Amino acid sequence: MRITRSIRTGAGAAVLALAVSLTAACGGGGDKTALENAQDGKLTIGIKFDQPGLGLRNADGTYSGFDVDVAKYVAGKLGVQPDKITFKESPSGQRETLIDNRQVDFIVATYSITDARKQKVDFAGPYYQAGQSFLVKADNTTITGPESIAGKTVCSVKGSTPAQNIEKNYPQAQLQTYDTYSLCLDGLNSGSIDAVTTDDIILAGYASQSPGKYKVVGKPFTVEKYGIGLKKGDTELRAKINDAIEAMIADGSWDKAFQSNVGQAASYPTPPAPQVDRY
Ligand code: GLU
Repeated sequence: MRITRSIRTGAGAAVLALAVSLTAACGGGGDKTALENAQDGKLTIGIKFDQPGLGLRNADGTYSGFDVDVAKYVAGKLGVQPDKITFKESPSGQRETLIDNRQVDFIVATYSITDARKQKVDFAGPYYQAGQSFLVKADNTTITGPESIAGKTVCSVKGSTPAQNIEKNYPQAQLQTYDTYSLCLDGLNSGSIDAVTTDDIILAGYASQSPGKYKVVGKPFTVEKYGIGLKKGDTELRAKINDAIEAMIADGSWDKAFQSNVGQAASYPTPPAPQVDRY
């Protein structure tokens, strides 16, 4: 009797252990910290899938863009090879939740550092500074900047800082929000919206993909400092990612990544890299 029972207990424990390891292997939602995952040789990193030059899932299933290169560089400094990174799409409005639920280890996705977001997540960086602008059809002459959007239908993404800015500071504009900027572009193409608004660098990426079709208008009218979003309170991870960003800037990889992803495609001059903020 006793022996039987102990065998049963042993088998139960083995099944439980298998279930736990399967959950962890499925990636995302696991119990391990980002640094523990990195120690196991793998990371799940949140990026955008539809932002050319920054975070893009290509037709062949590969990923490219400045954010992707930053993610790969940081992963490398944490000891993780590029082929051991699982990239997970992280729409603007879901980023804090994805981090908090451990569905991603960290996020590199045109993610502005803000005080409101800092209540829920921490940020390494900044690694880039952008500013809000507008994208219109090439023949549009009426929208030239934030002063000219009263009565116009302006599209941005749920949970993004540009959407919040329009809602709060430009109430005379008609704000339309979708989950992704590519849905806004569909609206621009069909004529249901007049302008897409978000960071200048994102809009430049869309303009460069369809030469002659769109133009970016107006001077950037906000400051968007891109950070790498991570689990709140993980100071060790934040310090290590900050070290990696500084190394990427110091060894020339940052410049190279910017030029090859954004500089050439969108004819964007490479700006000076920002100073990492060790808050
Ligand atoms: N940088 C802005 C933000 O974090 C806009 C870009 C985006 O939606 O990812 O909200």
